Amino acid sequence: MLESQINKFLSLPELKFTKKRNLKNYVIEFECYKTNEFEVCPKCATKSYKVHDRVFVHIKDIPIRNKLIFLKIKKRRFKCPNCKSVFREPIPGIKKGFKTTQRFRSHIRWCASNFSDLKRVTKQLQCSSWLVYTAFYEQLKLENKKWQNEWSSTVGVDEHSFLRNSKSHSTEFTSIFVDYNNNRVREAILGRSMDDLENSRIMDIKGRENVKNVVMDMSGSYKKFVTKHFPNAIITCDKFHVVKLFNHALNRIRIEVMKHPYFLKSRNSPVRRLYLKNHERLSFSERHVVRHINSLFPELKEMYKFKERMLFIYNIKGFKRARKAMTKLTDEMAQSGRKIVQSLRKTVVKWRREILNYFRTRLTNGRTEGYNRKAKLIQRKAYGYRNFENYRLRLIYDCR
Ligand SMILES: [Zn+2]
Repeated sequence: MLESQINKFLSLPELKFTKKRNLKNYVIEFECYKTNEFEVCPKCATKSYKVHDRVFVHIKDIPIRNKLIFLKIKKRRFKCPNCKSVFREPIPGIKKGFKTTQRFRSHIRWCASNFSDLKRVTKQLQCSSWLVYTAFYEQLKLENKKWQNEWSSTVGVDEHSFLRNSKSHSTEFTSIFVDYNNNRVREAILGRSMDDLENSRIMDIKGRENVKNVVMDMSGSYKKFVTKHFPNAIITCDKFHVVKLFNHALNRIRIEVMKHPYFLKSRNSPVRRLYLKNHERLSFSERHVVRHINSLFPELKEMYKFKERMLFIYNIKGFKRARKAMTKLTDEMAQSGRKIVQSLRKTVVKWRREILNYFRTRLTNGRTEGYNRKAKLIQRKAYGYRNFENYRLRLIYDCR
């Protein structure tokens, strides 16, 4: 009883072991054969009982207790009584023409995604790096096929750099679409322009009308794409990026101001940190410094006030109140004569509806940014990718 159970555990279905041999002290070979009486002809689907001849094949299987396992299978060749063609019997668990079992290839996938580099995998499994490479991406493709769901109700969009194009010396970008409901990267595509998005796999995923919310940073092409192809979606602008715009404008004014001889010429001046920080979090003495500098430079004071107001708006509860505060802020910005403030106001007004949607949906792009971080880690672990398709498979497999 136990023997048959072990046999069942070790072998593939329909195979029976006959002999075990230790080839070296770390290699074990099992001799086995297939037990069924007949095979069906692949050409005309007629049952065939007539064995033409027998051949041995060596198949590599998943290692057990650090010992490499080989299956020496006595394969029969059958002759079809109908069309007279000769064919080999197929063995479940081994693809036609392959010298490894499917479970071994799946084990390669496990090793390759858990070991720190692929050289260790080749050493551990005693196989070529080519086999690791092909089996890994083939298995990733199979795994990812299991996760082909429709669009869910909330989606996050963002981009990150992929590689530098050697010909044009420009950076190529990857856009990722994150499924917020199932907590994973749904799709990744090369490029971020409208053309790239429209000619990509994004269009093949079904259920675009299911999407109710899309979170994104202030990118024109994403907005255009989402409004065109996701008819029921409400776009929410990420709050971090809005505050970043204000901080950026403030920083530019600060750099101009600090050319004044009043300041010491130092690359990492502590003033920068003071101005980026939320005013509420400054200590008493720090507030005093900020107030003093602001009193000397009115242009800095003005922009600092706008930045603090924007931070304050994000603490407001309720859509209507936030809308009112936002209108007041943009009206005040309109009265300023400075170019930087005017261009900032233009952007804020252009994205006004999306920024205000935050007070309805309360969604941020934090999760997408987190996956961006993970994507960067995957790139680093592989010392960079040359093939985008492989990168995409790895990214979707790891971020799920
Ligand atoms: Zn036949």
